Amino acid sequence: MAQIHATARKSTLALRQRKRWLLAQFAPAPDGLRASLVERFSRCGKANCHCQRDGPKHGPFYFLTQCLAVGKINKFLLKTSAQRQAAQEGIAHVRRLQELMEELSQINAELLRRDESLTDE
Ligand SMILES: [Zn+2]
Repeated sequence: MAQIHATARKSTLALRQRKRWLLAQFAPAPDGLRASLVERFSRCGKANCHCQRDGPKHGPFYFLTQCLAVGKINKFLLKTSAQRQAAQEGIAHVRRLQELMEELSQINAELLRRDESLTDE
């Protein structure tokens, strides 16, 4: 769920100043990933393995999952810690951009409600 910003209580000037600040934060994220990192523990297929009894399961294994459409998920194993690190960073960068975009959008909706221009400084 999006964070709700208290735009209605701010002056139009304050909203415009916040917009300027938000726009200055936007930077391209070459490593950007809109995805999730999922941690899994699993059992192997070996009959005598501890994981088949009460012992600990194998793992953790890390998967990147990407929802492309309803019911269409791209999911694969991240085999190295470098891949996992890259995924974590890329996901964090996109999340940051999404948060900036969300606040900008809420400010723009409030400006629109006040019949203010969305493009004027
Ligand atoms: Zn096992």
